[in-house]
Amino acid sequence: MAEFNNTNLADFSGVWVFCEQRQGELQPTVLELISEARKLADDMGVEVCGLLLGDKVEGMAKELGAYGADKVYVCDDPALATYTTDAYAKVICDVVMEKKPEIMLIAATNIGRDLGPRCAARLHTGLTADCTHLDVDVEKYIAFLKENSTLPEAQYASINKEDRNLKMTRPAFGGHLMATIICPRFRPQMATVRPGVLKKGEYNEEKANAVVVEKLPVAISEADIKTRVLEVVKEAKELVDLTGAEVVVSVGRGISKDVEKGIELAKELAAEFGGVLGGSRAAIDSGWLTADHQVGQTGKTVHPKLYIALGISGAIQHKAGMQDSECIVAVNKNDTAPIFDVADYGICGDLFKVVPLMIEAIRAAKA
Ligand code: FAD
Repeated sequence: MAEFNNTNLADFSGVWVFCEQRQGELQPTVLELISEARKLADDMGVEVCGLLLGDKVEGMAKELGAYGADKVYVCDDPALATYTTDAYAKVICDVVMEKKPEIMLIAATNIGRDLGPRCAARLHTGLTADCTHLDVDVEKYIAFLKENSTLPEAQYASINKEDRNLKMTRPAFGGHLMATIICPRFRPQMATVRPGVLKKGEYNEEKANAVVVEKLPVAISEADIKTRVLEVVKEAKELVDLTGAEVVVSVGRGISKDVEKGIELAKELAAEFGGVLGGSRAAIDSGWLTADHQVGQTGKTVHPKLYIALGISGAIQHKAGMQDSECIVAVNKNDTAPIFDVADYGICGDLFKVVPLMIEAIRAAKA
C-alpha cells in the first residue's frame, strides 16, 4: 500500500459521496446523500464529488450533478460491474489516498455497511455508522471542548477553522440517547447514513449539464478479488417500499386481540390513501409482518406526508423512525401512550372500533 499520511488535515478537501449503483441503477438514497453533501460543502466552501464505480456507469453522472455534485469521479471496469468487497474497497482506497477528500459519505445499505468499515480500516481513519444527522460547526465544537475537555489548552487551541469537524449523530445505547461523534485527528471523516433520513433536494437541469466528469484509471487484478459473484438472485416477493411512500399506516401489538382483522383494517385504511403498511418491531417479532415492514431505529426511517400509528405505544426506538413525518395520527386505547407526544392528531380508543369509522368517514368525504 502506498504511503498515506492522513494526519495532516490541511491536505484534505471536499465532501465525497460513494454513489452506489446496482446493476446499472443508482440507489435512490445516493441522491439524499448528494443533497446533504451539497449543504455541508456550501457551509465549508468546498466541492461535492461523487465517486461512481461500475461498468459503463458514466451516464449516471448527470443525475448526480442535478442534485448537487460538482464533479463525479468514474471508475469504470468490467471487474466492478457487480459489487465485491475486495474490488470496491481497493479501488475506493486507491482513489481516496490519491485525491484526499475531507469527508466521505456512504449510504448504510447492505453494501455500504460492508464497504464503509473495510475502507475506514484500510485508510486508518474513523467511521461513524448508521448516522441520522450530519453537521459541520467548528465554533460550537471549540466552545464545547473548552467547557468540557480536560485536555491541555494547547490541544484545543490548535483547532482552527481549517480543522472543521463533521459532527456525525447516531442513536446510542439502544436509542435512548443521540451521540454526536467527531473524528478530529484523521481524514477522511467517514460516515454511513441511514437511507431515508436525509431529504433529497430538487432536480436542477442546469447543474446536471454543468457536472464535471473525470474518468480515473482502475488498477485491479484477479489476485485482488478473492470472491467471485456467480449469479445475482433477486428476492421473488415484492418488498414494501416504506421509505418512498407518501402514506404509511403501521400496526403494533395493539392488534393482538385479532391480528388478521387488525392487518386487514390497516391495509384498507392505507388503500384509501394509496399508502403502504408498516409495523412496530413488536408486530414483526410476533411474525405478523415481514421485516421489510418495520419502522424504527432498527427498521426503516420514514418521513411520509401522513403516518398513522394503530396500537403502537411510541417507544423511543419506534419514534426514531417516524417522528419526522409531516402529519402523525395515532390511535391508542391508552391516553398516556407516548405516541401521543409526537402525534398531530390523537384518537384515544379501541382501534377495532375507531379504524372502521375512519374508513367510513374517508369514503363519505370522497363521495
Ligand atoms: P407495545 O409497546 O406493547 O404497545 C402496544 C400499544 O397498543 C399500547 O400502547 C396499547 O395501549 C395499545 N393497544 C392495545 N390494544 C389496543 C387496541 N385494541 N386499540 C388501540 N390501542 C391498543 N421498535 C420499533 O417499533 N422499531 C424499531 O426499529 C425498534 N428497534 C429497537 C431497537 C432496540 C435496540 C431495542 C432495545 C428496541 C427496539 N424496538 C423497536 C422495540 C421498542 O422498544 C418497543 O418494544 C416496540 O416499539 C413496541 O411495539 P408496540 O408499540 O407495537 O407494542
